[in-house]
Amino acid sequence: MISQTARTSSGARITTVSSMTTSSSTYAYLHDGPSLHPHAIVDLTYLCLVDVVLFPGERLSFEQYFDPSVRHAIVEQNISYFGLVLGQVHPEVGYVPAQVGTVWTLTFGADRRLECHARQRFRFCQPPSTVTWNTHSLHVAKVEICPELDDLGHKLPRDFSRNCGFWSSWEIARFHGPTVMTRLIGHYRDVLHQWGYAEEREKQGDEPRAFSYWLARTAPLSNVQRQSMLALDLPVLRLQRMLSVLAAENQMMLYCIACNDKNKRTTAITHAQSIFQVTPGQSGNYVNPSGFFHQALTVSHVQEMNIELEDEEPTMEDSWFEGYAWTIVYCHVCKTHLGWQFDRVSDSSVEGEGEERKDQFFGLRRAALLSNARE
Ligand SMILES: [Zn+2]
Repeated sequence: MISQTARTSSGARITTVSSMTTSSSTYAYLHDGPSLHPHAIVDLTYLCLVDVVLFPGERLSFEQYFDPSVRHAIVEQNISYFGLVLGQVHPEVGYVPAQVGTVWTLTFGADRRLECHARQRFRFCQPPSTVTWNTHSLHVAKVEICPELDDLGHKLPRDFSRNCGFWSSWEIARFHGPTVMTRLIGHYRDVLHQWGYAEEREKQGDEPRAFSYWLARTAPLSNVQRQSMLALDLPVLRLQRMLSVLAAENQMMLYCIACNDKNKRTTAITHAQSIFQVTPGQSGNYVNPSGFFHQALTVSHVQEMNIELEDEEPTMEDSWFEGYAWTIVYCHVCKTHLGWQFDRVSDSSVEGEGEERKDQFFGLRRAALLSNARE
């Protein structure tokens, strides 16, 4: 194996991991290109993002989401892989990185823009150091590339298909990814359609792992729940959790997380059945002009008595949705920033023309919400 070393802005030495790759991805959701060996231990350069959980299969435009100084450092060091991990705010010292994050590959697009693509998951070998308040600083840590196992087949008797022994076919079916996936799609077709599954299926096909990642990033889960989904090595376990979540979908509410944390009270903000996709297939990742990365759920209705709007005229400036003006939405009780109200102001020719376009909807920050879905 050929190793190359480089220095980060903080002076730490890193080993590039470009030579530790498998030949190519075998999964449609990862698209073409090399992946790192499962279980490989590598020195990975990573960034800690606040309130953001990202899953394999997601794509980002580097220029859109990251500070120019990060781009400069990554290009200068010729880094082709880097990590992104959720940072949870520590009130005194900064951010505490989660144990599991995603490995991203970097490629130049046709216009020389850097495209990032989440391909795999990593786990820190040692508990990661607390990160200071600067979210644009790169760090390096020894990590293990997480394996992506298909189901619990490796734990079943080798000849279980012929001789189940004490494993009933029902039990085996619970741990068989394609079976659980078929069950989910069969039972919750309408909900999945509302969440934009038809477009996703066209892109990814029927593959339990890609489906489990798509569900985990689309469902109205809190960041704690999303992070625990990311940490699972088995797609079938992710799908089983989603079966429990979806079973209660018609009673699932989303609450203000700050009211719950600070005042131990519930302030209902919206119902899970209000979730819809403005543009089918959209990622839900947005960045504001100040460079803050937001993950937002788009919903058609909110509990109006529990929100209040900023006392400003709606503006089209830097709107994430063409033809819509935005106004900031706060929690009526604790004044936490919950997201934005979007009001349609123009019928200009935009994406989705010809389809029914809502006069108004809301983009709610996932990080500001807590769901009553079971963990
Ligand atoms: Zn609140």
